[in-house]
Amino acid sequence: MWHIVSIIFGAIVGSFLNVCIYRIPRGESIVLPGSHCPHCQRSIPFYDNIPLVSYPFLRAKCRYCQGAISLQYPLVEGVTALISFLLFSRFGISWSYLLYFSFIASLIVITVIDLHHQIIPDVISLPGVGIGLLASFILPHLTFLNSLMGVLLGGGSLFLVATLYQWLFKREGLGGGDVKLLAMIGAFLGWKAVILTILLSSLIGSITGMIIMVAKGKDFKYAIPFGPFLSLGAVISFFYGEKIITWYLYLNR
Ligand SMILES: [Zn+2]
Repeated sequence: MWHIVSIIFGAIVGSFLNVCIYRIPRGESIVLPGSHCPHCQRSIPFYDNIPLVSYPFLRAKCRYCQGAISLQYPLVEGVTALISFLLFSRFGISWSYLLYFSFIASLIVITVIDLHHQIIPDVISLPGVGIGLLASFILPHLTFLNSLMGVLLGGGSLFLVATLYQWLFKREGLGGGDVKLLAMIGAFLGWKAVILTILLSSLIGSITGMIIMVAKGKDFKYAIPFGPFLSLGAVISFFYGEKIITWYLYLNR
């Protein structure tokens, strides 16, 4: 029963994340006014506001102007609902559920905004660092020291890589946004997860980069935003980090 509630709650939060994704880069308020259609500007009634449910019924179109509604809306909701379910299955109703859910929800918003605009808004990552540090006093598996080392290692290592890259290639490879994002990831997950996140995101990022280069014939200068890979790496580290490390140590016995 509660599992179903966690899925529904996740979908509702996901609907709000869609609002954040659309409005934060445009500098609009995320609270007011209520949701409106991006084509005809008419406000969306509450019964259409959970695309996961209304999307198939309205056949991916606005009820009024028939303007196309992006698949991104139900996708963001579906992923958020899934994350809520997974976290609830692990933690039940607890601070851990609430804090990790807020953390991964911010990663979802950052991922989609970075894909669209190639920016990672400071208004998410910077408060995220502070909240992660404070959360270490509540979360059972995270000490304050571990969280602080996560921030320093996350922010510090990427800053070093970014500076080195700029010095070598005379152009920006990693943005300052990526540095702040990894600091936030370190604050919530600790320093070990930062190392794993860097390894995983570089691996997934370079494979994806090569596929894009082969498919589109573009060279290395074609910048792909790194935020989505950092976010994905962090989520994998969070759910499977222990297993990956155990497996790795087993291989290297
Ligand atoms: Zn419309």
